[in-house]
Amino acid sequence: MTFRTRFAPSPTGPLHLGHAYSACLAHDMAQTQDGQFFLRIDDLDQSRSKPDWETQIYEDLNWLGLSWPNPVLRQSKRLPRYRDALQCLWNRGLLYSCNCSRADIRAAASAPQEGAPLHGPDGIIYPGTCRPEFPMTGLMPDLPLRLDMKRALATLKAPLTFTETGSGPNGEAGQITPQNMVETVGDVTLARPGMGASYHLSIVCDDADQEITHVIRGQDLFEATQIHVLLQNLLSFPTPIYHHHTLIRDENGKRLAKRDDARAIAKYRADGATPADIRTITGISRLFG
Ligand code: GLU
Repeated sequence: MTFRTRFAPSPTGPLHLGHAYSACLAHDMAQTQDGQFFLRIDDLDQSRSKPDWETQIYEDLNWLGLSWPNPVLRQSKRLPRYRDALQCLWNRGLLYSCNCSRADIRAAASAPQEGAPLHGPDGIIYPGTCRPEFPMTGLMPDLPLRLDMKRALATLKAPLTFTETGSGPNGEAGQITPQNMVETVGDVTLARPGMGASYHLSIVCDDADQEITHVIRGQDLFEATQIHVLLQNLLSFPTPIYHHHTLIRDENGKRLAKRDDARAIAKYRADGATPADIRTITGISRLFG
């Protein structure tokens, strides 16, 4: 099996040191394994994605000395692919339409009998207001669609499992078997108006189509991995090996954000730093020399 990995930034702001670490780690791991490193542009959210940020992604990664096969896969060009995957889940009665606003969900989830709203990897756990008693049939509507988690889990022939070669935020590693997803994740949104598909659905399709064998990314996405593994099972996609890495934090222990321009790669570059400096600051050079 050839090692194939990817770096999938969203062009919604400047790449910072955390992105540099993630991209270099994936790139260098692929290189040491004689594998391939792909760049993918997660530009599904067209309201926030900007061509200028995309251009800067190419510039920053080139400057860091990374290379990847062209053309790169861009999510905004793949809406029909995501629609097909949604259709497949819809045909199996696993999706339902839901027009609840965030405010509706917050209100229903914090109703007195419900207590404080519980958060999962996809935000507040959906209280089930629109969940139908029987599977929805007929034409798939062009509306926000949620996965009926309980129904979806009931279709599985074997327990979900994946291999973690890095670690989750609480040290989770090795063979991971997600549990209690109805209570801790709930009915996640898989199609959003204006975006076609949700992040969870789109990256699962992309990883499968690019035959990604190793997903290397930050620990902030560890909790979402169980959703991805479930979708891979429902869509008959293989499950890659996952490697979640620790996040680069600022001196106050806060993880870096896109708006944290002070840590932008472009800023370091403008200030005269070299790619080797970035590798030293992020700790990549300790791992790969
Ligand atoms: N586009 C996602 C992000 O920037 C990464 C998705 C992934 O690596 O699975 O957080």
